Amino acid sequence: MSLGEINGLRDPDESGRFGEFGGRFVPETLIPACLDLEKSFKEAWADKEFRSRLDQLLSEYAGRPSPLTECPNLSKELGCRVLLKREDLNHTGSHKINNVLGQALLAQRMGKTRLLAETGAGQHGVATATAAALLGMECCVYMGEVDIERQELNVFRMRLLGAEVRTALSGSRTLKDAINEAMRDWVATVEESHYCLGSVMGPHPYPWMVRTFHEVLGKEAREQSEERLGTVPDLVVACVGGGSNAIGIFSGFADSSAELVGVEPSGGAAVGRGVPGVVHGSRSFLLQDEFGQVLEAESISAGLDYPGVGPEHSHLADSGRARYESVTDEEVIEAFQLLSRMEGIIPALEPAHALAWVSRERESLEGKTVLINLSGRGDKDVGQMMEVLEVDDGK
Ligand SMILES: *Cc1c(COP(=O)(O)O)cnc(C)c1O
Repeated sequence: MSLGEINGLRDPDESGRFGEFGGRFVPETLIPACLDLEKSFKEAWADKEFRSRLDQLLSEYAGRPSPLTECPNLSKELGCRVLLKREDLNHTGSHKINNVLGQALLAQRMGKTRLLAETGAGQHGVATATAAALLGMECCVYMGEVDIERQELNVFRMRLLGAEVRTALSGSRTLKDAINEAMRDWVATVEESHYCLGSVMGPHPYPWMVRTFHEVLGKEAREQSEERLGTVPDLVVACVGGGSNAIGIFSGFADSSAELVGVEPSGGAAVGRGVPGVVHGSRSFLLQDEFGQVLEAESISAGLDYPGVGPEHSHLADSGRARYESVTDEEVIEAFQLLSRMEGIIPALEPAHALAWVSRERESLEGKTVLINLSGRGDKDVGQMMEVLEVDDGK
């Protein structure tokens, strides 16, 4: 690609499409809600007061800006210069708070009193329950029955924060079923409820709106890189589930010479192994069987267990501006320990995917500068890793 073609991320067209991906594939009853949300979001984003209130919450409540951390030991080990964007240091432990605070403030501005959310591992549910508590709103989180059993600590956290957790009993009783039920609730309660979607997916305007709320992290990372390096890094690497942390950091570098790399779990490589299809309101790459049935994603990291990917990533893959790679669970377990030991930073399993790819590619990355988005901290994963590693040790 010539530099002349690099001009940042585009906004979607009128129908919410990024190239041939995206759109608004929802039941008739939800069209007015999506249109209303789009209009309200545009108005809010143009409103100085809304923006300064959000900035204030991001700094005073969430702890922004997050630092850029140099990794001297890891850099020596891998032979490339590694920097981390520390989204793990945000309140609630990940990048998710950026989007949730934005949507909660917007919902309040729209006169809504109730936040609805879906959650898989529970992280987005916890972030939404947090924002609801802060703003004095009701909160109802849908979670698959299987995930509720696997994530009892996060279920307790949400209840502690005052949210109601509802069990999704349909289908495979995991994230995609929780999304279906949250959408059903939204149809029935749209007057008072806002559906606070957790990633850059779903019908227009969600992929675009959620990206916009995460652009703050890309903007910070760009400024911090220029200040630290005098230029942009050679590569910007992020893990991809739905794709919100990745699009957030990509947005800061899309108009630069930096190579953009998204890393998916090999058991949930929607861009790598999926084919275009429609799910949860938009068209994107999607894991499906020969009959078009949506397949289950499988990954060690519950936060990346999603069979689809945000439509803008499908477009970035299609246009060649970003590339998408995948890593195995074994490589992720290695990377999780590597960062803990070398830098004293225990990462969440999701961003350990990004590090796992950098570690595997160390030879081809020799001498380069690599910025990894450390999307979250590993506290939530240490219990699971203790089990995995003790089995490995034969204890
Ligand atoms: C939820 C989560 C992800 C996956 O979501 P994206 O929308 O792909 O960013 C990644 N990292 C962490 C720490 C998460 O909590």
